[in-house]
Amino acid sequence: MSATSTVTPSRTTQLRTNTVASSSSAPAAATVRDAIKVYGRGDNEVRALDGVSVEFVAGKFTAIMGPSGSGKSTLMHSVAGLDQLTSGTVLIGDTDISTLNDRKLTQLRRDRIGFIFQSFNLVPTLTAAENIALPAKLAGRTIDPEWLAHVIGTVGLEKRLRHRPSELSGGQQQRVAVARALASRPEIIFADEPTGNLDSLTGAEILSFMRSAVRELGQTIVMVTHDPVAASYADRAVFLADGLIVDDLDQPTTDSVLDRIRQLGA
Ligand code: ADP
Repeated sequence: MSATSTVTPSRTTQLRTNTVASSSSAPAAATVRDAIKVYGRGDNEVRALDGVSVEFVAGKFTAIMGPSGSGKSTLMHSVAGLDQLTSGTVLIGDTDISTLNDRKLTQLRRDRIGFIFQSFNLVPTLTAAENIALPAKLAGRTIDPEWLAHVIGTVGLEKRLRHRPSELSGGQQQRVAVARALASRPEIIFADEPTGNLDSLTGAEILSFMRSAVRELGQTIVMVTHDPVAASYADRAVFLADGLIVDDLDQPTTDSVLDRIRQLGA
């Protein structure tokens, strides 16, 4: 009895100490531990993730980089609760998403995660303003009007709010998608090649907005990209190869990212 009571508090203290230590300096918006994802069986088996552990710190812009087939999408989809790991753990904040049933997982994605896709994914029949408000409306939440005005100002959409997607350029549509992701202040936003369908000038504009969202609005963004220029807008670039994290670069620049890509032979 006394042994148990001695062991239990010290374990608890240990856990608490770890949690406090990581959250006081830089809380993790998402944590991945020992992630393994295997597709197929036998000769067809592909280990898309082969033991990935990574923390995405709150208030930071992280780029996930790596050659095609290295596991970038699998990692992002697994962290965003769109795909299930074969083994390992994903936490969004303190929530272990593998413990959630489908309904709770859908709720978590809706309430705590934002998405920006390469193909914008706007509803064509709705105006820009209606598209931006849609996720909150579906969740039955009201958006703080002051925050919304701030977001719309940040992405420079004031004069386009009544336009439908077909009346907007690609860059403007992606700005709407960025504003939509920001509107409900999710804990973390996942962006999948957000500039993949844009020319480089428009892409740079969108990346600047995303960086402002992180620096000025305190948002957390994780972006999958294969573009070193896009990665240079991030605070950190994590490199994947063959389902493993092989490098982790703080304050990446286009040159430092290109260097790493050359070193990794990707
Ligand atoms: P990336 O996003 O870096 O291009 P992916 O995560 O899409 O890489 O893919 C990693 C590996 O897993 C690749 O070898 C890919 O072919 C494989 N893979 C991805 N999705 C599936 C799937 N649904 N079925 C079988 N293999 C898959």
